[in-house]
Amino acid sequence: MHDNLTGLPNRELFIDRMEAAFAYARSDPQMRPSIMLIDLDRFKQVNDSVGIAVGDSILLTIARRLGRVLKPQDTLARLSGDQFALILMSEKEPARIVAFAETMRRTLRAPIAFNDREIFITASIGLALSENQQVRTEEVLKDAELAMYYAKRIGGDRIEIFKPAMRSRKTDRLTMESELRRAIEREEIKVLYQPIVRLEDRAIAGFEALARWDHPKMGRLSPAEFISIAEEIGLIVDLGLFVLDRTARQLAQWQAANKGREPIFASVNVSSRQLLRHDLIQDLRSVLARHTVARGTLKLEITESLVMENPEHAAQILSRVRELGAGLSMDDFGTGHSSLAYLQRFPFDTIKIDQSFVRTTPRGTRPVILRSIISMAHDLGMEVVAEGAETDSDAVELYQLGCEYAQGFAFGEPMSAEAARDLLVEKPARIRALKIASE
Ligand code: C2E
Ligand code: MG
Ligand code: MG
Repeated sequence: MHDNLTGLPNRELFIDRMEAAFAYARSDPQMRPSIMLIDLDRFKQVNDSVGIAVGDSILLTIARRLGRVLKPQDTLARLSGDQFALILMSEKEPARIVAFAETMRRTLRAPIAFNDREIFITASIGLALSENQQVRTEEVLKDAELAMYYAKRIGGDRIEIFKPAMRSRKTDRLTMESELRRAIEREEIKVLYQPIVRLEDRAIAGFEALARWDHPKMGRLSPAEFISIAEEIGLIVDLGLFVLDRTARQLAQWQAANKGREPIFASVNVSSRQLLRHDLIQDLRSVLARHTVARGTLKLEITESLVMENPEHAAQILSRVRELGAGLSMDDFGTGHSSLAYLQRFPFDTIKIDQSFVRTTPRGTRPVILRSIISMAHDLGMEVVAEGAETDSDAVELYQLGCEYAQGFAFGEPMSAEAARDLLVEKPARIRALKIASE
């Protein structure tokens, strides 16, 4: 009944325990077991590159790490090779369950030392909350599995909660690919703009451009559902250029309409495939020639992990981007294991702190590291945007920590260009009113 390598319960025992947990739950509504399926990303490749023996010791390390986060009433099992599962009894509130899953995800991500190397393992986590006590064990496990596959399909290293829609969204990959190839010319790709607010006076300082795909059948898809496909089939270059050009055109209009005021900025996300091609510089040059924007106000957002894939090459390209008059933001800072030494050498003007550092912990405090990141950025001459500011107290506290800008639902969700323009012509007071109205 136990797995030889880790000593954890195996699949059979896990299902047995699940049945027991659900039986308890039927007699006691206070009990709300939820099921979590944890599948390591690309573990086959890791195994192939380090060998089975090291692969096994990685699995053992992971099993121990996961075990340390649990309470005695929770059950962790190893279902198969690189798949673990958990019956979570110690948390009952959906928000706390998700926070718990987030802790699991982060615990897993910490590098594992091996000889003189470090190995990074991530996992896709599917979560099935027990909302309905009458459901059958196999069905709940299937739901968690569907959510896990969904997380995997959209790039891995994430948590997805099962939703009934996942059953019908199983459109096959090949169809998606060919539809995506036609999506730009069919004008199905939309660019939304999310406000970035200056915390000092809560005025709008700029916007981040975020892509959406209005799929004729599946409805509006988020970037997580199509960017990785676009990257794999090489379409990201066209898609990225489209978003860049659209945004530059929009920014030029906004700036022209607000002459005399300090120009706002707009930032556009750039994928690794784009960055590593020489055409990026060419594309950027022609976009900047087509649309007149103030120097440094069209910014490229680049993730830290992307820069670290090839630091020397990236440093060269980034310098050229700056020479052309574009700005540079380091996106999702804190999630990509960057070398601090390199950070000094990259010509970023802005650091965007990932929302996982901005969010309060389950104990209601903010990660202590937040303050250090902000002062480090300032020492390096960079400005700081905090991502994921969801409440007014987030904004107040971020300002007190010395952060210049914030972006998040507290100041508006990604919106159409028209809605963004409306927001721009009105007073900052309106932003506060908007926020209250949405609460
Ligand atoms: P990102 O660049 O880190 O963008 C921020 C994401 O956080 C956006 O998700 C945004 O909607 C979300 N967000 C903003 N405020 C809050 C908040 O207060 N709370 C929470 N929970 N979330 C918030 P979105 O639009 O789904 O985009 C996801 C990612 O997709 C982006 O992450 C970016 O990396 C990528 N992406 C978006 N558009 C493009 C694009 O045109 N090209 C490329 N290459 N990537 C893109
Ligand atoms: Mg971004
Ligand atoms: Mg980000």
